[in-house]
Amino acid sequence: MDSRGITAFIIERGTPGFYGGKKENKLGMRASETAEMIFENCRIPQSQVLGTVGEGFIQAMKILDGGRISIAALSLGIAKGAYEASVKYAQEREQFGKPIASFQAIAFKLADMATKIQAAELLTRKAGDAKDRHEKTTKISAMAKYYASEVAVEVATDAIQIFGGYGYTKDYPVEKYYRDSKLCTIGEGTSEIQKLVISRELLKEA
Ligand SMILES: Cc1cc2nc3c(=O)[nH]c(=O)nc-3n(C[C@H](O)[C@H](O)[C@H](O)COP(=O)(O)OP(=O)(O)OC[C@H]3O[C@@H](n4cnc5c(N)ncnc54)[C@H](O)[C@@H]3O)c2cc1C
Repeated sequence: MDSRGITAFIIERGTPGFYGGKKENKLGMRASETAEMIFENCRIPQSQVLGTVGEGFIQAMKILDGGRISIAALSLGIAKGAYEASVKYAQEREQFGKPIASFQAIAFKLADMATKIQAAELLTRKAGDAKDRHEKTTKISAMAKYYASEVAVEVATDAIQIFGGYGYTKDYPVEKYYRDSKLCTIGEGTSEIQKLVISRELLKEA
């Protein structure tokens, strides 16, 4: 696609030719609705052009540099929720006469979860700091989003394991964290695309 041909518009609800389509039935993030948008002979006046004609692709890329820090933060929140629930449960749940946190297999999972969360938080804060300083954040945003989202999935998966059978039920929050976390490795560019962005930036610097 020729990126120079893309232009951003604001399209008001109710504009003739613009309709909301099917509401998606999603695995997670169900509190946030996602729906199809349908455009059929939809004519938009010049006054609704957002920015400059032909600059839409550049605008989208700039938005993604910032948006990816938000997805990293969202991932971090999910990971922390899953971790905190796991620490509490591991201290409460007793098996073989002891809290499951006293089994090294569980304690080491908690150690891995906490370490990954800490690393994801440092990357996310570094990206946020670069944005606050108005620096170019393409690489660090992609790194933070890629790493934090993968950590969210890993931590939520470990959380389900720590909860055992209860983890697989809706009695506890961890099944929701598990479902919600997966979007973070997909939305605003998949993990594969983040690696593409990071490697391109690295090679430009080399
Ligand atoms: C719940 C939800 C909400 C969303 N909200 C929005 C929104 O508000 N606004 C918006 O614009 N979009 C939104 N999206 C779309 C989202 O950004 C895309 O789904 C996402 O970027 C992946 O694109 P795709 O679905 O077309 O996957 P595809 O591009 O078809 O990718 C399929 C697979 O191929 C891989 N792949 C594709 N290209 C390459 C490549 N060049 N190299 C290596 N691997 C590749 C991908 O990593 C993936 O594994 C939303 C998606 C979801 C699920």
